[in-house]
Formats: sequence, C-alpha cells, structure tokens
Amino acid sequence: MKLMTDEEIKQANYRSRNRAKLLVRTVKLDYETPKVMAFTVGERWKYSVIYNKLKEIFTCTCKWYTLKATPCAHIIAVNLWLKEKEYKKQKV
Ligand SMILES: [Zn+2]
Repeated sequence: MKLMTDEEIKQANYRSRNRAKLLVRTVKLDYETPKVMAFTVGERWKYSVIYNKLKEIFTCTCKWYTLKATPCAHIIAVNLWLKEKEYKKQKV
C-alpha cells in the first residue's frame, strides 16, 4: 500500500490538513476487496474515500477533491488513520 508521505501531507492545503486531524477519529473501513479499500469519513456529512490497490491512488467523493483533484481532508484523514494503525502494529 502506497500511503502519502509525511512530506506530502505537509505540502497539502493547510485547512485540509487541520480538518484531517479532527476527522481521523471518524474514519471507518467499510470493506476491502482484492482491488479496493473503501472508507467512510465524516460526522454529519459522510464521504467515501476509495483506495485503488492497482493504481495505488486515493479518491474521494467530496466537492473539494472532485474540483481540485488534490488530496482533501478526507484522504489525508484516511492516510493519518492508516499510519497510526501501522505504528501501533509495529509497537506490538
Ligand atoms: Zn474528500
């Protein structure tokens, strides 16, 4: 799995990054298939973040991503969440 690097996250839009930190705790893995991992992110407004395993890219259903095609808060949140999980795994 190809996650965003810390550097890429730092370069992301400042507001998206700050929102992502709040959204991390709302991340849920919905399902996983050999081709994709599907997440839901958000509280009142929920968005779907899909990780395409073959292309190794994240996409999101939110407006920001649709219009700008740059990592939105939801994609960053999923990346932070996955990094946290990896980190915990390594500690065990
Ligand atoms: Zn999004």
